[in-house]
Amino acid sequence: MIIRMKSRASQASVDKVIERIKKYKCEVETIHGRESIDVIGVLGDTSGIDPNVFNEIDEVLEVIRISRPYKRVSREYNANNRIIDVKGVKVGGPDLVFMAGPCSIESEEQIIRIGKEIKQSGAHMIRGGAYKPRSSPYSYQGLGEEGLKYMAEARKQTGLPIVTEATGTHRHLLADGSAEQKNVLENVLSYTDIIQVGARNSKSYGFLQDLAIESGKKKIPVLLKRGEASTISEFLLAAEYIVANGNPDVILCLRGIRTFEEKKFQRYTADITATAVLKRESNLPVIFDPSHAAGYRDLVEHVALASVAAGADGLIIEAHYEPENAMSDGQQTVKSDVLKRIIEKALKIKKCMG
Ligand code: PEP
Ligand code: MN
Repeated sequence: MIIRMKSRASQASVDKVIERIKKYKCEVETIHGRESIDVIGVLGDTSGIDPNVFNEIDEVLEVIRISRPYKRVSREYNANNRIIDVKGVKVGGPDLVFMAGPCSIESEEQIIRIGKEIKQSGAHMIRGGAYKPRSSPYSYQGLGEEGLKYMAEARKQTGLPIVTEATGTHRHLLADGSAEQKNVLENVLSYTDIIQVGARNSKSYGFLQDLAIESGKKKIPVLLKRGEASTISEFLLAAEYIVANGNPDVILCLRGIRTFEEKKFQRYTADITATAVLKRESNLPVIFDPSHAAGYRDLVEHVALASVAAGADGLIIEAHYEPENAMSDGQQTVKSDVLKRIIEKALKIKKCMG
């Protein structure tokens, strides 16, 4: 439920509303307009509250029940776009944001070289996995903490913020057969500028809670990927978990969903329509990952540009100087010249869409 106040409502009226909400043991969230608090959110079980109890308070304009199951992340609750500042790069604002880099960090030289190349191509952030949630336990699992250190060095040398994934509790096997015992979440949070939740983990609710609490304390934004079989509502509820548990800075990332399509043509089905739906339904930034959606490098450009036309606030693209030798996802990885072309075209499309 939200209570809309008249413009320039007095603090006394706002306090009266808050006092009444607290009687119902609900949580209160205030949203500042230009001059005063113009919206008061009521969160929790509001089913027993008669909206009329607020109408009689001075300066209350209207009381609206939020019809969506996801509350805080809905546009109904807060119509203003949430703009997330990542070390000066604004995600969800008027400008497109481009994140790029390898699927996996493979060595210090590799991530630094790619970091420099993607910067030259016009990207604003470096992506790369140190902990890889692979479908097979025998596939390359990433470098673990060593990878995070290389990523931090790439940030230092390029000045670009970094985004990397945290898996849940993970017994991380290293190349020499020994196991890294550190808490992955804590470890990733001590290095990264944005913490990624992968498609496979986006329904691990306990993990989302822990991640929200810990990243919220450090004010590190979350890049949440859509689960390959999550509905749009389930995806938004996963984001709601993070916001409700203490981190309001969530970037929604579409990356394709599983349909009856065969992998020989496309790895997943690009959920382009969902881009526009999410922009309408939610106030959070929406970015698109055309690499995982398409699964093949010759399709990445088409999907990337289509998602920008559908309203995406940015793109996250897998890039490598030698995609054919990448340790993971090489077949969907582009070189920096293609990345540059995609960025240039995306900027034109954004201008054209207005
Ligand atoms: C990735 O970003 O490399 C990745 C594993 O993505 P997803 O979780 O979307 O499969
Ligand atoms: Mn990948």
